[in-house]
Amino acid sequence: MKSPVPDYLREVLDSLADNSDGAVADYIPDLKNANPDVFGIAVTTVDGRTHAVGDDETEFSIQSISKPFAYAAALTDRGFDAVANTVGVEPSGEAFNELSLEGESRRPKNPMINAGAIATHSLLGGSVDERVTKAVDFFSTLAGRRLSIDESVCRSEMDTADRNLAIAHMLRNYGIIDDEAHSIVEGYTSQCSINVTVRDLAVMGATLANAGVHPATGDQVVSRAVARQTLSVMAGAGMYDAAGHWLTRVGIPAKSGVAGGLLGALPGQAGVGVFSPRLDSHGNSVRGVKVFERLSDDMGLHLMEAEPYGSSVLRDIRVVDGELRVELQGVIQFTGAENILDALENDDSGAGTVVVDVSRVDRLSDVGRRMVLEGMRRLALDDRTVALIDPDGVLPDPDLGDGRFPEIR
Ligand code: GLN
Repeated sequence: MKSPVPDYLREVLDSLADNSDGAVADYIPDLKNANPDVFGIAVTTVDGRTHAVGDDETEFSIQSISKPFAYAAALTDRGFDAVANTVGVEPSGEAFNELSLEGESRRPKNPMINAGAIATHSLLGGSVDERVTKAVDFFSTLAGRRLSIDESVCRSEMDTADRNLAIAHMLRNYGIIDDEAHSIVEGYTSQCSINVTVRDLAVMGATLANAGVHPATGDQVVSRAVARQTLSVMAGAGMYDAAGHWLTRVGIPAKSGVAGGLLGALPGQAGVGVFSPRLDSHGNSVRGVKVFERLSDDMGLHLMEAEPYGSSVLRDIRVVDGELRVELQGVIQFTGAENILDALENDDSGAGTVVVDVSRVDRLSDVGRRMVLEGMRRLALDDRTVALIDPDGVLPDPDLGDGRFPEIR
């Protein structure tokens, strides 16, 4: 059998192929030369499989899609507090290149607009070369291949970078950045000129979606906390002054770039990369936005449309040979664990032994684990014998307190 997923993506691509709305960015002279018809889509699941259609090998400059990743690098290097002193997390509702700062603190409102991204770039630390090397290395790790800078795009943007220079001078004036404005904009512009493909974007997004674990290598590239923070800021501000509309209509944390790239990262599911250079008035790829609207509608990918999976973790609860057997399955988080505890509380079998079988459980979240163990501890306190079947060790160190452990079956 051939998977229908690539066929579906091909159908989405074909259905939008004739759409020539919007215009390629022209404020960076080199971007005017882009072929406006190029169009590619790639999806990487958190299991590490990539499906790609169209111009999936075409390179383009990452531009503003570099911002969430530079933010993730700064959070990793500097810690949350230091980053929060430099840049906020509030959606600005403003255009990407607004000369904008927060009232009292003078911090840029968020790291997705240029002011915030320029400040974030300065947090990468060191000389221009060091900051740029850090960005290239980090992005390459995320992409799983060596990335490089499009020097021509970079030079072309630097030649016309007055607005970003104005922003950097403003930031330095208020003490948000210490480095010399020109050097910061030079580094930031190089960071924006790193070339990627839609395949790279999809796998980079999948790493954020996968709680910081690279879906191909299994390496923890950023911490769970950094991935969560980055996705949160993308959800609130990634699409600039269209962020609210995007969150309601599409519901996938995302970031766009003026070269025409669009990255989405759906927590727990997938990363998506799209490239199509014609932009709308917000600076977002016209066909890219449409692809995401289709994916969200057709594949039920809206963040706010989560499945109610609580009750599905309790596979069976019944008395077998005088013992209460509790069979669990799937991924156990708060609501699932609450469901299990409720079933144990309402059990009126009177069985003296309770056997908890987690052999079909894929994973317990931290809170899921603590809640299930607490339930087992309370059963033991009620003088019931507690036994555990856990052939794969999904519930390691099942300490019930007071040095008591369940009987291992
Ligand atoms: N390098 C671009 C700039 O700073 C990035 C903007 C964008 O992609 N929206 O203007």
